[in-house]
Amino acid sequence: MKAPAVVACVVATVLLVAACGATPAPATPGATTLAIPSAAPLAAAPSAIAAPTPTPEPTATPGPLAASYPIVASCAASAVPEAAPVTTPNTSKKAIALRVPILMYHRIVPVAEAGDSMPGLVVPPERFAAQMDALAAAGWHTITMATLGADLQAGVEPAAKSFVITFDDGYDDGYTYALPILQAHGYVATYYVIPGRFDKHAFLTSDHVRALAGAGMEIGDHTLNHVPIGMRPIATASYQVEAAAARIAQVTGQWPASFAYPFGSQSARARQVVAACGQMRTAVIEAPPKVIVPASPGASGGPTPSAAPSAAPSADPSASPGATPAPPAPTPAPSKRPAFPPVFETWANRFELPRLRISPSVSPEWLVAMLAPYA
Ligand SMILES: [Zn+2]
Repeated sequence: MKAPAVVACVVATVLLVAACGATPAPATPGATTLAIPSAAPLAAAPSAIAAPTPTPEPTATPGPLAASYPIVASCAASAVPEAAPVTTPNTSKKAIALRVPILMYHRIVPVAEAGDSMPGLVVPPERFAAQMDALAAAGWHTITMATLGADLQAGVEPAAKSFVITFDDGYDDGYTYALPILQAHGYVATYYVIPGRFDKHAFLTSDHVRALAGAGMEIGDHTLNHVPIGMRPIATASYQVEAAAARIAQVTGQWPASFAYPFGSQSARARQVVAACGQMRTAVIEAPPKVIVPASPGASGGPTPSAAPSAAPSADPSASPGATPAPPAPTPAPSKRPAFPPVFETWANRFELPRLRISPSVSPEWLVAMLAPYA
């Protein structure tokens, strides 16, 4: 696919707008701080895989449903004492700036099974597997957001060619389709889940979430009900962040260390709310300030940046049924931005980290080119 067409595709995706999630009753604020994880990065195991096979349902004795636990609106470790708190690494206090690309996916599922999800957010398993094949062949390996946060706090640079895979919204295909592909490559990912949707149709079950955590995947907080906390009163925002964190701790036995703002809705107050949940070490927004695309065939030089996506709310696959695809976006004008986007992770900006949105139109070759400037 030629670059202009690809850019149009990406921008069209970015312009899609989805409905908001439900608003819950406010709850008791009450959080304290705690710990941080130091999950070890896994080594990549490049492998060529054939047609992806869905993972069968967990066969172990089913555990408790998420809804069987009490709602706890607190990030205090004592609120869910049976869960492991986030642990703080021995910090060197060394300020570092990392350049670790953070990929954002939503659904890895055949289009025929994607229901009403926005097409731009549905990456078929074969495409995802090919993307991972290409990155593995290019020497890239994964770390989780928890590891990235721990590295930032400790002043440790992860190995070269580290990147992060994230999945938003907690669809069940993150278990059935994405997990086996990740495992075939020795990759890990961070799943930003919506605990209020656990065990509901098309979403991860409580057993799925436990199985993902048991397989070394990170379970991150995406609010209890997928609420754009940047536009909500502070009590509602706190409830959404903290009740989700505690529910993840109840189900997995591990407090989450990472957060993703639904709809990319963030603000200084929202960042304060996330920071007040002392378990949290990082928060990602829905999209980067801009995306990069490879130069057109025949053009000289390396990848060049495209125009910035709009500031409109991000597309979301959980939009209400009947949502219609967005109209085609105008072709962006050539940009004179620098050769790679200023995507740096630092301790100072850890609660507003940008991500690279990966749509189904991103070819494996393009993805490798997108990440090349970060190597
Ligand atoms: Zn979301």
